[in-house]
Amino acid sequence: MNKKIVALIVLLLITFPGFGQDVHFTESLFSTYDSYRESSLDNRRIKHRDLQPLIKKLSENPQFQVNKVGESIEGRDLSLISIGNGDTDVFLWSQMHGDEPTATQAIFDLCNFLGSSDFMTEKEEIFKKLKLHFLPMLNPDGAQIFQRRNALGIDINRDALMLQSPEGRTLKRVRDSLQADFGFNLHDQSTYYNAERTDKPATISYLAPAFNYEKDINTVRSNAMKVIVFMNQILQDYAPGQVGRYNDDFEPRAFGDNIQKWGTSAILIESGGYKDDTEKQYIRKLNYVSILSAIYTIAKGNYKDIPISEYEKIPENDRKLFDLKLEGLTYNLLDKSYILDVGIHRLEVDGPSHNTFYYNSRIVDQGDLSTFYGYETMDGEGYTIRPGMVYPEIMPDLAAVSKLKVLDLLKSGYTYIRVENIAKEKHAINLPINVIGSNQKAPKSKLQIGVNPNFLLEKNGKNEFAVINGFLLDLKSGEGNFKNALILK
Ligand SMILES: [Zn+2]
Repeated sequence: MNKKIVALIVLLLITFPGFGQDVHFTESLFSTYDSYRESSLDNRRIKHRDLQPLIKKLSENPQFQVNKVGESIEGRDLSLISIGNGDTDVFLWSQMHGDEPTATQAIFDLCNFLGSSDFMTEKEEIFKKLKLHFLPMLNPDGAQIFQRRNALGIDINRDALMLQSPEGRTLKRVRDSLQADFGFNLHDQSTYYNAERTDKPATISYLAPAFNYEKDINTVRSNAMKVIVFMNQILQDYAPGQVGRYNDDFEPRAFGDNIQKWGTSAILIESGGYKDDTEKQYIRKLNYVSILSAIYTIAKGNYKDIPISEYEKIPENDRKLFDLKLEGLTYNLLDKSYILDVGIHRLEVDGPSHNTFYYNSRIVDQGDLSTFYGYETMDGEGYTIRPGMVYPEIMPDLAAVSKLKVLDLLKSGYTYIRVENIAKEKHAINLPINVIGSNQKAPKSKLQIGVNPNFLLEKNGKNEFAVINGFLLDLKSGEGNFKNALILK
């Protein structure tokens, strides 16, 4: 080994004693993940009913204790799943916001791991020192319709003082009854967050919430910070640079802040975005690996030696990402041409049963966007934006549209097609051309905020790219990660 590497390892062990010991465990968790992944939960629109057979199975395993600890407004059971015999209580709850399911899935992966007969050395250590308590999907009514708020229309995370929601009351009652030493408050955040001044999405963001306006740091809060530093170190191996830190302004109504105040070291974990991971299944895996590693370090007490000065070094969260960023396009307006960047978000619209969704994109900013970033970026130098036209022929139905050579239509400048008979419930089409009614005019083509982006990018008199419903298509190859165009009626 060369001297530099030795020095680095020594430095690492001085900075994080114990960190070195756990690397092997973390790596094993990562490489064996698929054996414990709960395969019945594989997309974000999971429902309370999907969890019940899994909870029942755990209740039949003598290692676990499962207790009903409350009910949602609409009468869905809230269950607490506990395992371990130690004196230190670690409480983990997920999805108090109904459309934030990533950690709920990870909790069932964790339970599969904990209930298995593998990794017994580490698990004996965990069960000897800790008692783990999981409360998955605290807001099942919100999850049912994939919305943030509960059935009362309130944000449970602003109900820690008023305690009007039965879900919030359950969370407080469980926390109080356990007098938990550690609390993991598990959420999802927007995929548009990035690590400050980088193009890296904040795949995971952390916060050790403040318990007062002064943002004082006592032992309770500093223990949370130390565990966060530990988890951040782990994630650097699997998503380098993709960890953010939330602003720690005190929010007197939030659960995290109050739980910290009530004496439980509160750790907020937010699952954000990762390129090409729409259903956040890689992020779920990162939750699993980092939370299990954190549980192990809490059991061993290794986190105690981590300096909290490292916490402040985690980059702050920023919100500067687009799904698609087009740079330096030429845009003509009133016979003059201008250079501008265009930033696009692809928004999800749920199907009627909230099991599926389609995309309806928006221009969210235009102009000099040099301080912003894209999951997908195109250098548009030399390309001129051309509004799309309506294809002159009317098609009888969608089946007829699917027989057309759509790529050729796009090359000819058409981004809309008229169709006579369109089923009422259809809002999206998996072809890169938008459908409008037979008597309908094309939507406005002016480039402005809030508009659904549909245009061609022309160079030397040829349409080389098309942007359809916010998806970029290369018209030479037909390539692009296209998902759907819109049916506008
Ligand atoms: Zn949330």
